[in-house]
Amino acid sequence: CGIVGYIGGEQAAPVLLEGLSKLEYRGYDSAGVAVYNESGMHVVKSKGRLAVLEGILDKGEKLPGTVGIGHTRWATHGAPSDVNSHPQVSDGGLFAVVHNGIIENYMQLKEHLMRRGVEFVSDTDTEVVAQMLEHYYRGDVLAAIRQVTQRVEGSYALGIICADCPEKVFAVRKDSPLIVGLSEGQNFIASDVTAILAHTREIVRLRDREIAVLTREGAEFYDEELEPLEKPAETIEWDV
Ligand code: GLU
Repeated sequence: CGIVGYIGGEQAAPVLLEGLSKLEYRGYDSAGVAVYNESGMHVVKSKGRLAVLEGILDKGEKLPGTVGIGHTRWATHGAPSDVNSHPQVSDGGLFAVVHNGIIENYMQLKEHLMRRGVEFVSDTDTEVVAQMLEHYYRGDVLAAIRQVTQRVEGSYALGIICADCPEKVFAVRKDSPLIVGLSEGQNFIASDVTAILAHTREIVRLRDREIAVLTREGAEFYDEELEPLEKPAETIEWDV
């Protein structure tokens, strides 16, 4: 339902929690964050209000790290529960994914991966994206994302972090909104501009199947064939 992603010089968890709180009005049944730091990928998620997550994380202070993704979930596939909350993580712990939308052919993709020994833990359609990313990963995250977008049917806005590539946040969308927010030394993704208005008014709107790769210094954009795209930022006017 709601997505926020961050890479920069601040602590990610408080930025993610604050951004998600701006999306609460959309309704949700669970919330979670994944943050990367020197000791690896850390996921904290829970069924229930954002306040539950804030309590576990002590407003974010219990989860150090400057790269992360967050999500509020409105369950479509799999009941609201801790394990079905996002981020969903791949079998080997390499990828964490937040997703808005519905992967229509997830069952078929899931069965295919299970026959190849991939172990699933949730009932969500989203987990198949995390598992496919790891399954098709050969050292190039963009190539793995392309493998996924070529196979999935349905709607998605995806925020992705990879333990093998910890200085980046990846995003891609189709039929579900996602924007990139640009600022000095820190960059954002969000499903709705309200989540990041406190930090920046410089945004780039992703079109269907476009991919964004965020670093602390900036963002690069690619089309579905992984050809680089020039996407100038627009400054939005917004009264808060
Ligand atoms: N279909 C996904 C799920 O049920 C994402 C739902 C959402 O957009 O929050 O987990």
